[in-house]
Amino acid sequence: MLPIEQSCYWLATRPQSAQGEALIGAQRAQVVIVGAGFTGLWTAHFLKSLKPDLDLAIVEQGVTGYGATGRNAGMISNCIDHTHSLAIAHFGQEEAKELAAIGLANINEMETYAEGCDLERTGQLFVALKEKHLHDLHSLIEDAERLDIKGYQLFDQKEIQTKLNSPRYVGGAHVPGGGILNPIKLVDKLVSDLKRSGVRIFEKTRVDSVHQGQIKAGDASIQADKIILATDAYTHHLLPGLIWRFIPLYDYILVSEPLEKSELEKLGWQGREGIVDGRTFFNYYRLTADNRVLWGTSEAKYYAPNQVNERFDHSHEHYQALKESFSWHFPQLKPMQWPYAWGGPIASTTRLTPFFGTAHNGSVLYALGYTGHGIGSTRLAGKILAHMALEQPSTLLKLKMVTDKPMPYPPEPLRSISVNMVTSSLRQVDQGAKPNLLLKILDALGIGFSS
Ligand SMILES: Cc1cc2nc3c(=O)[nH]c(=O)nc-3n(C[C@H](O)[C@H](O)[C@H](O)COP(=O)(O)OP(=O)(O)OC[C@H]3O[C@@H](n4cnc5c(N)ncnc54)[C@H](O)[C@@H]3O)c2cc1C
Repeated sequence: MLPIEQSCYWLATRPQSAQGEALIGAQRAQVVIVGAGFTGLWTAHFLKSLKPDLDLAIVEQGVTGYGATGRNAGMISNCIDHTHSLAIAHFGQEEAKELAAIGLANINEMETYAEGCDLERTGQLFVALKEKHLHDLHSLIEDAERLDIKGYQLFDQKEIQTKLNSPRYVGGAHVPGGGILNPIKLVDKLVSDLKRSGVRIFEKTRVDSVHQGQIKAGDASIQADKIILATDAYTHHLLPGLIWRFIPLYDYILVSEPLEKSELEKLGWQGREGIVDGRTFFNYYRLTADNRVLWGTSEAKYYAPNQVNERFDHSHEHYQALKESFSWHFPQLKPMQWPYAWGGPIASTTRLTPFFGTAHNGSVLYALGYTGHGIGSTRLAGKILAHMALEQPSTLLKLKMVTDKPMPYPPEPLRSISVNMVTSSLRQVDQGAKPNLLLKILDALGIGFSS
């Protein structure tokens, strides 16, 4: 199978840029960030905005954007939590309202920054495959309105099919606020701005260990006052104790050839929205700037015990299921070619939102656990981490999302057993069954399992 740099559409079509140098020797910085994904790059961006003369270094094991950041679907959701309903359930109505406003302001600011990154503010379409999904959409809209979020539009069967033509859709809703972008273009913009402001970015340098005041990568090292781990699904490799708080999962995606005009017309899709269907294990999809279909599934895979490794960058089983699900949604299209196919690791938490903390006597800081919704929330996490590292006050630091940790997952072998049980229970719900006792208990405890 092709390496990720060739199989992932965003990475493979990345304009040629000079690869950064690897770390050598013993160096020093005031702050060092491990990981050059969105969390690391946005954290660096905000650190430099708060303290322009800060001596800052970033160390990345692959190339910049090598992790989930360069591999995602590029669909920006309008909220920090997966939905406003979940934000209310997890943090209460007051904080959910605050998070909704913060989330929207965050996307507005990101849009201003991301010029040239193919960011289109299309909003999202939620499509219903059956009556139950329509009912869920009504609840979603009611919850958004409780938070003063307006502008959601409900569509009946005829209307949704004018937005996107699938015989499977019985209705849907347009959710304003979010959009789509090319994630690697945003990475490259951040990287070039950071380099211009004097940030040293080392690539192809795997950090082996983190201690108070020092990171080590083979024979090389950097001494620093503060170390920030922006390593999301890989974080347990450096701080093993954190594995209680998250579970690493793999998500998979296909990208087609550019659609011919006649095929695009069969779909409609004039609004170019990012789309999710109403199932628990849903498909998510969007058009790229050159009108390819990007087709993904939230049915993420857990590789026990907590493995994150390039061996799992591909899964034929997932690719086959993705192709079949696409034909099921759009039987009117000619058979498609899918030249790009890849997977990537995410860190899922029981409350589906990131968590924050410190280790090694406060000298190491971290934020992780975006659970498949990180494009907006990594930027916010970067702002939060920058304030934490520089010990500067911010109202963001008082959010429950920042002060409280998600409920832990069980250790192995219970972890694998519960993942299998929950996965099969959720599949049954998608096939029309009522939630079983296990799902009801997890729901009552506010515990989720999703990408
Ligand atoms: C297939 C897929 C689809 C997704 N789709 C969407 C979407 O449409 N919308 C959305 O909002 N979110 C989506 N996400 C989630 C989103 O991409 C992530 O939440 C987000 O990118 C996390 O960013 P990060 O910087 O925290 O982590 P990452 O991007 O994973 O970055 C962590 C970095 O740390 C580096 N690293 C790890 N360990 C070390 C070490 N020891 N030494 C040096 N470097 C190290 C890694 O190489 C990596 O580059 C998707 C994720 C995947 C995998």
